[in-house]
Amino acid sequence: MINVTKTFLPDQEQYLEYVRGIWERGYLTNNGPLLQELESQLKSYLGVDHLYFCSNGTIVLQIAIKALELEGEIITTPFSYCATSNAILWENCLPVFVDIDANTFNIDPAKIEASITDKTTAILATHVYGNPCDVEAIEQIAQKHQLRVIYDAAHAFGVSYKGRSLLSFGDISTCSFHATKVFHTIEGGALISNHPELDKKLHLLRAFGHQGDEVYLYAGINGKNSEFHAAMGLCNLPQVRSIIEARAQIFDWYHEGLDWEHMSRPQLMDDVEYNYAYYPVVLPSEEKLKGVMKALAAQEIIPRRYFYPSLNTLSFMPQRFDCPISEDISLRVMCLPLYVGLPQEDVKRICNIINDYLSA
Ligand SMILES: *Cc1c(COP(=O)(O)O)cnc(C)c1O
Repeated sequence: MINVTKTFLPDQEQYLEYVRGIWERGYLTNNGPLLQELESQLKSYLGVDHLYFCSNGTIVLQIAIKALELEGEIITTPFSYCATSNAILWENCLPVFVDIDANTFNIDPAKIEASITDKTTAILATHVYGNPCDVEAIEQIAQKHQLRVIYDAAHAFGVSYKGRSLLSFGDISTCSFHATKVFHTIEGGALISNHPELDKKLHLLRAFGHQGDEVYLYAGINGKNSEFHAAMGLCNLPQVRSIIEARAQIFDWYHEGLDWEHMSRPQLMDDVEYNYAYYPVVLPSEEKLKGVMKALAAQEIIPRRYFYPSLNTLSFMPQRFDCPISEDISLRVMCLPLYVGLPQEDVKRICNIINDYLSA
């Protein structure tokens, strides 16, 4: 079976070496030495100054909203994973969906201003598939209307834009280090802030909001992560460059193998050092998409409908917003298998099944 993704596992002995250290110290969680080492290595790898390793990529969105004291309406993208808009709902704010750009699949800055009201406090945008949002245009709008900007950078590990870490744009960026992402710590996530004055707050919000046993400052939550998760990160981080290279190779194979007369893909922004996080293709119709998926499933190849459905259409959203481009693309897009160790002959086979189905 070929799944859409397969978790990268580091050398087992190396992981066990870290585990033996944890046994010796008897210190399993709560800002331990491995966690601090991972944070320090991540800052240097990613080129950012303020980073907090947390328990997952969803709680960090909630902590970001809390730290910036957002309320009211948050402008966001309908073309993302449900964690993005669910975090807004969990923080008692209203997700206001703005449609995406038909080429990049990221929130369309040209459509943002029409959705701003006197209740709008922020923009929460996703760098979809690791492709940077139009961060400059978003920055301009945010400044003009005094809005905060959070980027859901769950897909954007290691991506740089114009020579600068993509995570350094906006007020706060959040990452996911879930087992399915380019870099993982089994479960995990990070807050990256560009405001030194938020440091203490983010640090405390992640761990119940108190300092020692006497000073209770914020209504914090438990967003901590453990030494075991940090150890997985310390094993995987030195591999991440070669992981990204291996993914780039597979990317090329798909690029060469697929028949672009019958499908398309999102357009990468210029000036990007990319991480090859996903390989989405857009088919001519949902019917064709389902047909292709069936043909692949017959050979035990399982792509993923990602992102589907368009988040603005979810039944539990408090208010309706029309996002025709996102609704259309989400019906026709799927991500193809992409992971370290996927052999070239399998990529060729996948391409042939898709090409044959679409040209029949
Ligand atoms: C994976 C993902 C998340 C959630 O991350 P978890 O670590 O699984 O909580 C949030 N947003 C996007 C865009 C994601 O892809």
